[in-house]
Amino acid sequence: MTSDELLSMEVLGEGDVFTLRQHTRAVAGAVGLEQQDQVRLATALSEVGREVLTQAGGARIAFTIDGSLRVRVRGYGPINPAAPGFAAAARLVDALTREGEDVILSKGLPPGRYTGQWLRDLRAHLAGLARTSPLDELRAQNQDLMAALEDVQAQRDELEETNRGVMALYTQLSEELERTNQGVVALYAELEDKSARLREASEAKTRFLANVSHELRAPASSILGLARMLLDLGEPLDDDKRHQAELIRESGRDLLNLVNELLDLAKAESGRLEPEVVDVSLRSLLRRLRETLRPMAREGVALVVEDPDDVEILQTDEVMLTHVLRNLLTNGLKFTERGEVRVSAHADGDHVVLRVADTGIGIPADELERIFEEFHQVRGPMQTSVAGTGLGLPYARSLVAILGGEMSVRSVVGEGTVFEVRLPRLDRIHLGRVVIADDDPAFRTMMRGLLHGVADEIEDAADGYAALDAVRRVHPDLLLLDLRMPGVTGEEVIGELRADPETAAIPVIVVSSADTGGIDGVALDKSRLTRGELLRAVGEIGKRDA
Ligand code: ADP
Repeated sequence: MTSDELLSMEVLGEGDVFTLRQHTRAVAGAVGLEQQDQVRLATALSEVGREVLTQAGGARIAFTIDGSLRVRVRGYGPINPAAPGFAAAARLVDALTREGEDVILSKGLPPGRYTGQWLRDLRAHLAGLARTSPLDELRAQNQDLMAALEDVQAQRDELEETNRGVMALYTQLSEELERTNQGVVALYAELEDKSARLREASEAKTRFLANVSHELRAPASSILGLARMLLDLGEPLDDDKRHQAELIRESGRDLLNLVNELLDLAKAESGRLEPEVVDVSLRSLLRRLRETLRPMAREGVALVVEDPDDVEILQTDEVMLTHVLRNLLTNGLKFTERGEVRVSAHADGDHVVLRVADTGIGIPADELERIFEEFHQVRGPMQTSVAGTGLGLPYARSLVAILGGEMSVRSVVGEGTVFEVRLPRLDRIHLGRVVIADDDPAFRTMMRGLLHGVADEIEDAADGYAALDAVRRVHPDLLLLDLRMPGVTGEEVIGELRADPETAAIPVIVVSSADTGGIDGVALDKSRLTRGELLRAVGEIGKRDA
């Protein structure tokens, strides 16, 4: 045995393999390996012992400590470390390597000081190990087996416990999930309830506005009329009385204005306001506005109207658009003390953008949305000196929505405000194939005329059967449908088309003089159909599908 060896022995026969196993366990135990690792290492070495006996007729086995526990196997003849015994051993140790002709098995050690006196004591202890008989070995192996079984049992118990824990956790989590789900469902129900009530409240408000303003209009008009009469016709009034009568007239006029604005707003919000779409010349509309509003501008404030150069005609409701722009310009002029108020229009793809920009007092960022609420006015030094109701902007925004557009605002306090109105360009609408279903040939001809330049191909159908047939045959981009037709009615045509996946998505516009209230979709009144109306309806359908 060399000086750094802990223990060495020869394997020359079966009996030595038992001893090797025993000694390996002793060494492994002495250097502090755990029970399981002791068994692993002992098993590895007995595999190796058996292998070297058959391959090389025997070997010298030596244990050393060099960072880890190393077992050197020197065969008494050539040994092949790829043989099954070595392969099995390799799985039980940390490493199995070759050093020249020798095979080295190594196993990591628990941290500790494996030096000096400790090593000397260990060596002395191991030197006293006796050779074991096969019987002793059998007993030892039995004990190992028992220990291993107990270990497995313990692990199984632990696993079961863990499983129970996991199951409990799982149950708890799914219960919690279920409770959360119930909560979410309840929350949704509450939310739906709230929004239904909100809708009701909003409708009630609109009704209230409409009723009250109606009721107020008559007395307000009378007050105004009576005051006028007093001033114009009556007996000559002394200065005091004339002044008082003038005050009554002014207040009456303010009251009537307010009532009228309320009425307009109520109408716009209730959806009862129908736009009348016609060709509008933007240039002349803007010029007219300039003429009527110029007198409102303060000294030092210019009202600038830019002539639109890239869009001449816009198809929209002229009265509504004029109202919106007048409101924006009036506000601009009211809240601008120097500089300018400028209105311009330009095309932006399928839209027209109308812009009203001023160099006035501006609106604080946190008020920008609120100015569209009824009666909201920004508190400030100018607010008291200018007339207003706080109803102009909400009304203007409702009108823009009715026209199929959007209104936005941006502003910097002290620098100015820009309002933008984006409206769709109905003349930009283009359709491929259209089917017109109506039993009146004159009306079909008129509709063909309205679609001139908009549709590539138009197919006629004189009744409901023909309509269904034409739609199934040509798959149009649009069906214009009369309700009252001989044979299959318009409602039945819609029902059949919706029931068939092939035709369910084909857009339909009902054009009828019958009651279209029950129609779920876009419906137009035959008696007042114009090109603009029709195009607006087509645009509306496009927006729904988008
Ligand atoms: P009104 O002008 O009758 O008060 P509006 O609804 O038209 O009502 O406007 C609401 C408020 O928004 C105004 O009172 C004003 O405070 C603010 N506002 C609107 N336009 C401008 C603007 N161009 N510059 C500054 N403030 C504005």
